[in-house]
Amino acid sequence: MRIYLNFCLFSTLCFLISNSACQKEENNTDSQESFNVITTYSKSNFPLIWRPVMFGNQIDDYNDLTYNMEVFISIYEPNFLNKYIDNIYVIKDLRNVLGQEFGGTVNNKNIYANDFNLNSVLHHELSHIYHNENKELFPEEEWLQINGNNFSYSGSGMQYILFGSESENGISLDSLHSLGFLNQYSTSSIDEDIAVFCEMLHSDYQKRQETLEIINSNQKLKQKYSLLSEFFLRIGLKTSFTSFK
Ligand SMILES: [Zn+2]
Repeated sequence: MRIYLNFCLFSTLCFLISNSACQKEENNTDSQESFNVITTYSKSNFPLIWRPVMFGNQIDDYNDLTYNMEVFISIYEPNFLNKYIDNIYVIKDLRNVLGQEFGGTVNNKNIYANDFNLNSVLHHELSHIYHNENKELFPEEEWLQINGNNFSYSGSGMQYILFGSESENGISLDSLHSLGFLNQYSTSSIDEDIAVFCEMLHSDYQKRQETLEIINSNQKLKQKYSLLSEFFLRIGLKTSFTSFK
């Protein structure tokens, strides 16, 4: 796993026209020493869909970044992270892209994350990767059955961020929980439904306990959690919260 910090001001042209101008290496930082972080003007394969809208600023708080990376990395087994993450690119102020709050995205085994709320974002995006890489091991039909025949996801997560959810009609969090969703974003797609579970269960111990309480008092959430636990077992995902304390 390599971690890149993006120092480029992300003028779109930088990627589209003059890639080489963006390849200058930056100096070492604490993050680099601790996590083999390579700071670079990215010459990466940013998802094409993002290129026309990418903006970002220089990371200026390495202490915060280092702390968040440490917290993120610490709960997984190194082999698991190495298997599912090639690179992490951290960009400042990504959430201001198009005026919306983007937390991050993935492309193959690369994670692109906003520096804001980084720990949660990384758990969320990592879950997209191990879900994508193991789709055949995920009990999708059983998951959809829990939602019931009358429910269909509103669209992709990206659609949700850009255009809002069609079903966004002020439904309460309690109602969402009883319908089997941890939050409104979970209703956008099965991928996001799963990722929100993973994010909330893995971000930190306190959050995990709160989430487990909610899960345990809602039958549908409990059923989904049970399917997810089986999936974790199948793909060998153990965290410091669970099996290797
Ligand atoms: Zn997501």
